[in-house]
Amino acid sequence: MDKAKYIWMDGEFKNWDDANVHILTHTLHYGNGVFEGTRAYPTKKGLAIFKLKEHTKRLLNSAKIVAIKPNCTQEQLEEAQLELLRKNEFSGNSSVYIRPLIYLGYGVMGLHHTQAPVNTAVAAWEWGAYLGDEGLEKGIKVKTSSIVRNSVKSTFGKAKAVANYLNSQMAKFEALEAGYEEALMVDDSGFIAEGSGECIFIVRDGVLITPPHDNSLESITQATVMELAKDKGLTIEQRNITRDEIYICDEAFFTGTAAEVTPINSLDSRVIGNGSRGEITKMLQEAYFDVVYGRDEKYDHYLTYIN
Ligand code: PMP
Repeated sequence: MDKAKYIWMDGEFKNWDDANVHILTHTLHYGNGVFEGTRAYPTKKGLAIFKLKEHTKRLLNSAKIVAIKPNCTQEQLEEAQLELLRKNEFSGNSSVYIRPLIYLGYGVMGLHHTQAPVNTAVAAWEWGAYLGDEGLEKGIKVKTSSIVRNSVKSTFGKAKAVANYLNSQMAKFEALEAGYEEALMVDDSGFIAEGSGECIFIVRDGVLITPPHDNSLESITQATVMELAKDKGLTIEQRNITRDEIYICDEAFFTGTAAEVTPINSLDSRVIGNGSRGEITKMLQEAYFDVVYGRDEKYDHYLTYIN
């Protein structure tokens, strides 16, 4: 990864290499912590964070869900992210990924977590296309995972909780080891839930379809893409889909802050549509990039400029 100069830890800017924690940090052992993945893009008015408020709100909501009392307010967290980007003086040639993390620190062991200290850190570094530049254009090969998405009967899909990502990590590992580029997970009932770190959309006969959030994160990119699709006059359905419906759809793509809008060219070796980025996918991908790079005035209110 590309190092930056500083990482923000509980109100202090630490040199990147000095941003360390104690080995008995509670979250390292028992997996209770929450995080965000947010991006800032270079625009003609400088670096701007996309949907800073929404991501920060989701971070605090995630903490509430997993019974962690945050040690920072929404305003402090927003300011910390902005100040971190200013201080790091990024090149402006690449987008920047921002990773806020609220975790349980050092001082208490054992499962009862409420006495453990709460700490917050924010890191940021330059990070290009998560699923590759070629993936954005040509699409990626996806495998339905044998790993079922975390069940809402035992975990919380609406929290971006550290612990949820063991499930994602195992699915991703399985897919990559089998020669695919990303995993798609089904829920307890066999309906499509989400990718290891993305939501999914399909297109059938010009209609845009995406699953509900019963078993997935409330994705900020998914909401953005739905808003843009509405603008373009597309019909949108939010309903359950199955893997065989994806096999026979015309287009499919993943959305996520890291993945942005990445076409899916095949699922389980069934080629989707023409096996490349579909027309509607391309239109929505371009519209998304216009928004995040500050080229669409209508959506300027989703950008927080750092200067
Ligand atoms: N699902 C999961 C499991 C994720 O980790 C992510 C990435 N945060 C998403 C969906 C997409 O969410 P967003 O568009 O808010 O980044």
